[in-house]
Amino acid sequence: MSESGPGAAEIRKRLSELEARIEENLPARTEGFQVTSPRVNVLGVTKSFTAELILDAHAAGICRIGENYAQELLSKAEVIRSIDDLEVHFIGQLQSNKVRSLVGLVDRFDTVDRSSLVAELARRAPGARILIQVDTSDEPGKGGCAPDEVAALCDLAGSRGLVVEGLMTVGPTQGGPEAARRGFALVRSLADQLGLRECSMGMSDDLEVAISEGATEIRVGRALFGPRT
Ligand SMILES: *Cc1c(COP(=O)(O)O)cnc(C)c1O
Repeated sequence: MSESGPGAAEIRKRLSELEARIEENLPARTEGFQVTSPRVNVLGVTKSFTAELILDAHAAGICRIGENYAQELLSKAEVIRSIDDLEVHFIGQLQSNKVRSLVGLVDRFDTVDRSSLVAELARRAPGARILIQVDTSDEPGKGGCAPDEVAALCDLAGSRGLVVEGLMTVGPTQGGPEAARRGFALVRSLADQLGLRECSMGMSDDLEVAISEGATEIRVGRALFGPRT
């Protein structure tokens, strides 16, 4: 069952609390891009909530959302298309045979982790904006390519005309927020080595660690919209 969520006023309040958590954890680095652009985007993760929640989230000031499941995203297409300045990111594990149905609805594919998916995106969504997903947790079922495959996959995607904006990772489920730090730091350093700006990492429970390690985008569900059923 999907939930309608807490309403725009409550989401706005939680968003301002979130902005404070972001502010407190921005890295104080003296080198690199952070000096000129210490900016962290908030992606509101709307999976398992109704399409109406997306309207409330947008009214509350959230202009980027993430969805995990093709079918669910398609069921919200009408509402999504009714909002002019909403950016939609696909953040779930993506089957190649779903790509075609998502073209035109998804603004960025954030979980590209294999060459067959690169090929399908290049064919169905020429010039698409993507992130390469890196597996930093070794937990099954999360997706992501091995860290030592990232460079080759970026090259391949670029050569097929996709626009690689950066990297994405999901922290471990076990071990608490600190268990995610090493993986987040690795992803930031890979992105820097490859000259990529975006690092999508950090969720409701580990966003402080992600931000302090150089996240440029955090993906937040529960801290904005409450528990999922
Ligand atoms: C569900 C999900 C999130 C949001 O998680 P919360 O803990 O609710 O903030 C972020 N990223 C991905 C890939 C997810 O699947």
